[in-house]
Amino acid sequence: MESILETKLQELKNLTIEIGDLGAVSSILGWDQATYMPTGGATARGRQIGLIQMLSHQRLTDPKLGKLLDDLRPYEESLPYDSDEAALIRVTRRNFERAVKVPTEFMYQMSMHLSDTYTAWVEARPANDFARLAPMLEKTLALSRQAAEYFAPYDHIADPLIDMSDYGMKTESVRALFAQLREQLVPMVQAISEQPIADDSILKQFYPVDQQRAFGEQVIRRYGFDFNRGRQDTTPHPFMTRFAADDVRITTRFSERDFGDAFFSTLHEAGHAFYELGIDPGYDATPLGGGTSAGVHESQSRLWENIVGRSRAFWEFFYPPLQAAFPDQLGKVSLDAFYRAINKVQRSLIRVDADEVTYNLHVMIRFELEAQLLEGTLAIRDLPEAWHARYQSDLGLRAPDDRDGVLQDVHWYGGLIGGAFQGYTLGNLLSAQFYQQALQAHPNIVEEIRCGEFKTLHHWLRDNLYVYGSKYTAPELIQKVTGGAITIEPYLAYLRAKYGELYSL
Ligand code: ZN
Repeated sequence: MESILETKLQELKNLTIEIGDLGAVSSILGWDQATYMPTGGATARGRQIGLIQMLSHQRLTDPKLGKLLDDLRPYEESLPYDSDEAALIRVTRRNFERAVKVPTEFMYQMSMHLSDTYTAWVEARPANDFARLAPMLEKTLALSRQAAEYFAPYDHIADPLIDMSDYGMKTESVRALFAQLREQLVPMVQAISEQPIADDSILKQFYPVDQQRAFGEQVIRRYGFDFNRGRQDTTPHPFMTRFAADDVRITTRFSERDFGDAFFSTLHEAGHAFYELGIDPGYDATPLGGGTSAGVHESQSRLWENIVGRSRAFWEFFYPPLQAAFPDQLGKVSLDAFYRAINKVQRSLIRVDADEVTYNLHVMIRFELEAQLLEGTLAIRDLPEAWHARYQSDLGLRAPDDRDGVLQDVHWYGGLIGGAFQGYTLGNLLSAQFYQQALQAHPNIVEEIRCGEFKTLHHWLRDNLYVYGSKYTAPELIQKVTGGAITIEPYLAYLRAKYGELYSL
């Protein structure tokens, strides 16, 4: 009996690897589209990606897979919850049950539509042309509602969409967490804004791209990025994507007039890559072989970008080599002035350029607007003005146009509306919770960072977080690592300590 079930388990694993490989093919096509493909390839590429996603969805919803999962249920129940075999069956079943609710034809239509919308956005954003995108966005909203309806009943229409990226979270739980955070952040931002604004003009000098790239690669290599298992290319909107256990791609964008833009996005995407590269290689291409949620993923990008990469200890080591790389720009600038410049807090219009203190306010605006669009309490035609109104009330600013307003983020133009933004703030909160645990286990980590050593931190994260891939859900993993649930306190303590010192609060 046992051996029949083991054969079935192997069959299940083989099927999931085929699905995983189709997913990787789709990711390669997407990566090429964003990096090297000439614009002329767009229509065919949309079709090709749509086809691969349809094939993948067909396999994931194949009744043969459902039958295998049923047959394996007693076997799963006989195994410890923590075993890899039980996890493979459990996670495959979750994906299967989710996928069968959505018709393949819908997936295909959605993929084609989103590809067209993305292509239009690439042109419409610089042209400040929301009107051109509005009809497409109407359709995206209808598709997003339809996607949610497949999972009815729900408490809130955004719940199924949130569940797809941050399993276990709901509109209500996110709203509650955000409300607590907002209550603490607003007075902090207010207190900082009453002080003189930090001078970051040193970062806006001319920084040649080649030297920027070399310096960024030097730092992530020191973090532990293995260029035999990954590479970095350039795109307008930086991202990380995984093709296999030993092949991840990160992208960045360079601005000759802004040192921070490419450098911190390089650290950010490297953090995402470390998560993927640290997963048990035995899980490769199976449903366990990927990060467990958007929020946990983002915790790793923010940890390496901000908690480590914007810390004083980090720059005590890296500032001298940075000055050597850019002697004309930084040779006469003190470490303290540089540290203040990269941690400048100021209310601003662009989420991706926002500092650690104001960043989450940008996320909350988007999360609320998404929820309202889905609820039907906000219409697409009123979205640009609703955006401006929220920026005015929450950040005291109004963008001069839609380019730096509602058109600034790719998410609604390349994906569904709903479930797209909460992961950023969940990630910020978790970055501090996980880092706190790492420091408790190894109080010498800060001293090591001061010496440009990252092994203890990197290995602790790998052994306690990365290695598990999607074996545990995000709430399970957070419980396992921190002994509790997601909470705002460690993040607030981190902000208070760092910015309290910087701004003598
Ligand atoms: Zn990220």
